[in-house]
Amino acid sequence: MKFGFDIDDTLINLREHAFNLYQKKLNKSVEHEKFLALKSVPIHELFGMTTEEGGRMWNSLREEIYYTDCPPFPHAVEALQELIRQGHEVYYITARAPEYCERTKQWIAEAGFPVEEGRFYCGMGDTEKVHIIRKLGLDYYFDDKPAVLDTLMELPLKVYVRDNSYNRHLDIPRITTWSELLEILREAGDR
Ligand SMILES: [Mg+2]
Repeated sequence: MKFGFDIDDTLINLREHAFNLYQKKLNKSVEHEKFLALKSVPIHELFGMTTEEGGRMWNSLREEIYYTDCPPFPHAVEALQELIRQGHEVYYITARAPEYCERTKQWIAEAGFPVEEGRFYCGMGDTEKVHIIRKLGLDYYFDDKPAVLDTLMELPLKVYVRDNSYNRHLDIPRITTWSELLEILREAGDR
């Protein structure tokens, strides 16, 4: 079967990694509980920044956010490796900007994720992912972002939201930790 995955905040804990970097850079500590309860994808309001200031902060730190030691979510690497072992196809579909794509591909491979030639898609907008997902004929797709997930509801595939504070209003199948993935497949008879 064909499995598609968003990367940021689906397979890797990028937003929390950025949250930690912001605290260091701004020399300002913010309670972790506030981060865990935040209902927006951007994190700037935790630091009292406007949307514009937040955008500038994110852009100025983007290389550091993307390419340092952002941790994969627990069991994510192992779950995807197991999919490959079982003979499935694994695709990555990330809306990171084009200039970050090549290094991102390298980075996720170095982090241990299985990356096969021709199965890494990058540089599209959030609302353009749907076209790639349709064209690939994926059987499963996983993402965290409401703006992406909202565009996928008409497609004939199994869509899962990777649980986070800003997507709990979505009433679609949900995965909270990657150790659940193989169980989901077993229950669906897809392994
Ligand atoms: Mg994401």
